[in-house]
Amino acid sequence: MGQSCEQALRELYSFLDGALTVERRTVISAHIDECSECLDVFGFESELRQVIAMRCREEVPESLRMRILEVIQATILEIED
Ligand SMILES: [Zn+2]
Repeated sequence: MGQSCEQALRELYSFLDGALTVERRTVISAHIDECSECLDVFGFESELRQVIAMRCREEVPESLRMRILEVIQATILEIED
């Protein structure tokens, strides 16, 4: 389980950018459906993007991106425990 979580989170940005193949999207969607930890992270990130898109059309600031990565890393560590 830990490994598929790590994979899903690694492909988070590609997933949200629509940059994955249909096959990869299907695998990740199926994983999110049955994994609440990943659902939380994916939900958090896509919500964040919507907020940013509404406020401005700039790229996510580097500091904010680092904080998101920290949250993702923390989640991966929790899962691995
Ligand atoms: Zn997961």
